[in-house]
Amino acid sequence: MARINFVKGMMPVILKKRKSSDFIQSMEVLLRRLPGTHSKKTLIENDLAKRKAGFRGEEAVDYFIKDSKEITIVHDIRLSNGAEFFQIDTMLISSNFILILEIKNISGTIYFDPTFNQLIQTRQENERGFLDPLIQAKRQQRELIKWLHAVKISIPVEYLIVISNPSTVIKTASYHREALNKVLHASHLIERIERLKEKYPEETLSHKEIRKLSKTIVNKHIPANYNVLKYYDIHEKEIITGIPCPACSRLPMKRVRGTWKCVSCSTTDKKAHVRALQDYLHLISSSITNHQFREFTHLPSSNIAKKLLTGMELPCSGLFKDRTYHLSADFFEKYNFTGQK
Ligand SMILES: [Zn+2]
Repeated sequence: MARINFVKGMMPVILKKRKSSDFIQSMEVLLRRLPGTHSKKTLIENDLAKRKAGFRGEEAVDYFIKDSKEITIVHDIRLSNGAEFFQIDTMLISSNFILILEIKNISGTIYFDPTFNQLIQTRQENERGFLDPLIQAKRQQRELIKWLHAVKISIPVEYLIVISNPSTVIKTASYHREALNKVLHASHLIERIERLKEKYPEETLSHKEIRKLSKTIVNKHIPANYNVLKYYDIHEKEIITGIPCPACSRLPMKRVRGTWKCVSCSTTDKKAHVRALQDYLHLISSSITNHQFREFTHLPSSNIAKKLLTGMELPCSGLFKDRTYHLSADFFEKYNFTGQK
């Protein structure tokens, strides 16, 4: 989900923390609900570790910019210039310029290779190649300028490659000017932002215009909606259904006298079906029928299923057998927060 952090000295600070991305959460749910012997388990575990490292890198950079005044931070934006999409993880908007940050959490020694435009990581004598983040960031810059032009805003757009891991050794060829100018450790970011302010002394956007632009960006944001099962080409039938016990993780919990009970350790959990519905949303669909709910939770009674679903006051459509209940991340966030029954 797109988020804005308004970070301003004089104004009330609205700081929304980065949440781990929806896709990371979906991967975690998937791993919990795949049989231990599933052939794609290791692949997903490795991908998850990489995505989490990237996320931690972005959080580390947030730490350095959180106190900088007069900067609005926009996270996780996916915009379109017609047919093509472009995605920016971190964008800083100031009165004088917009700064795109491409954040990399890569350890060891990294070498920006100007000959083949690649990034080479060396760690414990192993070499590994990555896509050149300079190329990624330049594309984002080009696309963002085009996009801003379409909404009639003209402001300098800069980009930097931020290495979030402080012990990473950064290397490049002495003539690779772009890498020398654009790559830095997170701890030098504030200093670099100050230098950009000197480079662009003209204040193009007022505070009001920055707010308006941030809102426009968030409104035009198009979520990627990757379904994790499709992404890994896993069939719904391969997923383990039932509600796992929150204490011992065994499956499935049983509906007993108005609560869910674990048959192994006797733990009870009144709200166990809410967690199951969240899993369903992550993996399968944003809508569910009474029948699908009973299959997923191993609940035999359609009356109890109806009571549980309507009891949550989920938005729904259709009548009788065709009634569909609609699930969304926003709904669960509110539901879990208010502790509504
Ligand atoms: Zn248990």
